[in-house]
Amino acid sequence: MKFNTKVIHGGQQHDPSTGAVMPPVYHTSTFAQKSPGVHTGYEYSRADNPTRTALEHALESIENGARGLAFSSGLAAIDCVMKLLKPGDEVIAMDDLYGGTYRLFTRFYEDMGIRFHFISMNDLADFEAKINEKTKLVWIETPTNPLMKLADIEAIAKITKKHGVLFAVDNTFATPYLQKPLDLGADIVMHSATKYLGGHSDVIAGALVIKEEALGKQLHFTQFATGATLGPQESFLVLRGIKTLHLRVERHCFNGQKVAEFLEQHPLIDKVLYPGLASHPHHELAKKQMKGGFGGMVSFTFKSGAKQDAVSFLEKLKVFTLAESLGGVESLANHPALMTHASIPAEKRAEIGVTDDMVRLSVGVEDIEDLISDIEQALNAN
Ligand SMILES: *Cc1c(COP(=O)(O)O)cnc(C)c1O
Repeated sequence: MKFNTKVIHGGQQHDPSTGAVMPPVYHTSTFAQKSPGVHTGYEYSRADNPTRTALEHALESIENGARGLAFSSGLAAIDCVMKLLKPGDEVIAMDDLYGGTYRLFTRFYEDMGIRFHFISMNDLADFEAKINEKTKLVWIETPTNPLMKLADIEAIAKITKKHGVLFAVDNTFATPYLQKPLDLGADIVMHSATKYLGGHSDVIAGALVIKEEALGKQLHFTQFATGATLGPQESFLVLRGIKTLHLRVERHCFNGQKVAEFLEQHPLIDKVLYPGLASHPHHELAKKQMKGGFGGMVSFTFKSGAKQDAVSFLEKLKVFTLAESLGGVESLANHPALMTHASIPAEKRAEIGVTDDMVRLSVGVEDIEDLISDIEQALNAN
């Protein structure tokens, strides 16, 4: 099955009792047993629920993994992976991560005795030199949030395999429509399904897809034993979102490219960070690793370098909504330093380049002319 067919049919079957084409939303906590221990495969909804199972099979299909798991949030999915670790273990993570991921790593797991190395992942020799016998996990995002940096999944996977280290990729920004980390050698793919998979800004959800069955079983056990599972209603919404993923991402890519090109030639704008621009430092890697486009996320800074220019631009937008989050059909705009990345200390933000004049756009699927003219009027008002 090809991808555009998989998003609709992958891992799905009609409801065996009624023929319902979409899985019913099984609002039930428990399942009747014929005799003690004799059941349909479902016992209690924290362990498994049929609506969640339908979503998990769809996730397996679109990311080419053995096991999909759906969580109550993206962070719950990351937390489940982190629970594989023991005090003394080390993690190598990218130095530009979603703010909440960074917070989880440094405010919880560091205190529990896990050591993190945050590095750029551009220098693969430096990366390999950081691996020692305590290194258990490598965690990356590509493209990153909000700097849109890329990391070479295939090259990193070769190194993690050689050293027997688990390799997880947060694929939230790219989505499996553009990029399939498991095919490139990663062990685990993670999603904030709140974003492009759900696609309509109406649900908080997370996902893991695991390449090997044995690790998938272990993580399913952790999820069951610790409890951060996705409810049936939310599972239904994410599954419905996935059915149009290919259509939406195609338009996000088209609009994202146009917005990035418009900003790049605008006299008030300094840097435009978008992997689809030839000026992007990782454009060649993006062309190799991301298939069919470069996504809908665009970050930029002002020539003035002034925080006030970013703030007043954001206040004047009309079609774009000033809000956290991303990946929905509607366009959103965000000020990383004051909003999504405020949990990263100011010095650390300055060090990695999340400056106070930076704006991050989640370009939606509206008419491109309306999006460009909205950006234009908000810039001209400055
Ligand atoms: C939003 C996001 C997360 C966290 O997901 P939640 O669903 O908000 O818990 C993790 N990684 C990335 C890249 C995100 O954008």
